[in-house]
Amino acid sequence: MIKNFINGAYAAAADGRTFEKRSPVDNRLLTRIAEASEADVNAAVDAARAALTGQWGRFTVDERVHMLYAVADEIDRRFDDFLAAEVADTGKPVSIARRIDIPRGAANFKVFADAIKNVPTEFFEMATPDGLGAINYTIRRPVGVVAVVCPWNFPLLLMTWKVGPALACGNTVVVKPSEETPQTAALLGEVMNAVGIPKGVYNVVHGFGPNSAGEWLTTHPDVSAITFTGETRTGETIMKAAAVGARPVSLEMGGKNAAIVFADCDFDAAIEGTLLSAFVNTGQVCLGTERIYVERPIFDKFVQALKRGAEDLKLGVPEDIATGIGPVISQEHRNKVLSYYRKAVEDGATVVTGGGAPEMVAELREGAWVQPTIWTGLSEKSTVVQEEIFGPCCHIAPFDTEEEVIRMANDTAYGLSASLWTTNLRRGHRVSAALEAGIVWVNSWFLRDLRTAFGGAKQSGIGREGGVHSLEFYTELKNVCVKL
Ligand code: NAD
Repeated sequence: MIKNFINGAYAAAADGRTFEKRSPVDNRLLTRIAEASEADVNAAVDAARAALTGQWGRFTVDERVHMLYAVADEIDRRFDDFLAAEVADTGKPVSIARRIDIPRGAANFKVFADAIKNVPTEFFEMATPDGLGAINYTIRRPVGVVAVVCPWNFPLLLMTWKVGPALACGNTVVVKPSEETPQTAALLGEVMNAVGIPKGVYNVVHGFGPNSAGEWLTTHPDVSAITFTGETRTGETIMKAAAVGARPVSLEMGGKNAAIVFADCDFDAAIEGTLLSAFVNTGQVCLGTERIYVERPIFDKFVQALKRGAEDLKLGVPEDIATGIGPVISQEHRNKVLSYYRKAVEDGATVVTGGGAPEMVAELREGAWVQPTIWTGLSEKSTVVQEEIFGPCCHIAPFDTEEEVIRMANDTAYGLSASLWTTNLRRGHRVSAALEAGIVWVNSWFLRDLRTAFGGAKQSGIGREGGVHSLEFYTELKNVCVKL
């Protein structure tokens, strides 16, 4: 059983409740998870609050940095355990988790340890009427107990992207992993204990959202700040919870990201990049592409090339080296994705490839499999072009002018990311500036320097994470004015 991790110890739920975790690959029962009661959430928040003023609160920045490097090294040492846990929970190919999820999970601790060590402080000399003057300087103080609410698509990576900077800044955390992916957050408790992170600094409570651990944690009055990654509708609920007590909130939410392919692009690179952005991680990437706009002269050629690429992706089990694409996270999510597949057809889409559930071998038939799917021919206002599906699918539409494609790309409630493919440098800069998105890639996708600002415009987010931007959220700046 996967247990809650409270005050440095693993514990079953106070009322003994558990819930199931099933494999996305074949729906077999993987394990049961302790479902935190309200008393467990309260105990986790109490432990986190007490730890703020204990040994952890007395550590110097250098000592914290040293410990976070040790956390990263211990994740590396237990790499195979983390890999197995992440792959079991998500069903994603081992090749992806080995290259992206687990290394980034470790790197997030080092990146923010470096950031806090190197962040400059403000200093101002000021004149005073007596001629002696005064000096002002700022110091960074932790915000306090941070609630960390996470999704299931990159569980360890996205959780440590918040826990890393929160701890680097001297806060304590209570993590609520997704109910779909509890295992790596639980395992991280062992790492914290192994390297001597004091009790109560890192806590994990398992459960769901409403009337469960998610709600109890985010409405808890002793939580000082809330950081969330997940769906926009959930983010809105969390923002309301944060309003009580006027607590800071950081929201990384959904997207309906566009890729724009100009006729002057490097065609093979554009195909390779958009194929990846639409289908990697079975399309369950917040930054992924679900809308592709292609300049008319190369439209037909592009559709055919992307179709071939999608059809070459082999659906398979995580351990198979040939697997290009795994199942989606759960039966529930599969049903949601397939409902969009039906809606696309009802709305008159041309199904270029896929469009339904694949025929799998007998032992995988109960898994959450869906076909990689490409559509053309839908109106820009149709549900499938407007709503985030979060599956292995995309719609491709032609365009004629730069102005037209900017308008189409921006015609969405979301604003997380966009990518554009062109060899015209001036156009690359011009279109990047015009797109309403927090992150724009030119001739690439998913290329990330962890010091850069990460986050969404419009309904995709509030605030920015990454490098010094995370430090702004996880610290309170205090000005000290000293009269000389
Ligand atoms: P979700 O919103 O359903 O759940 C996210 C987390 O919130 C889970 O831990 C869930 O239990 C919890 N939760 C749900 N209701 C809650 C409530 N009322 N109060 C408190 N907690 C609650 O999202 P998901 O399905 O896990 O993840 C997929 C979504 O995440 C997609 O929309 C995707 O675009 C988004 N996402 C965004 C980013 C980003 O950086 N912008 C990154 C990854 C995923």
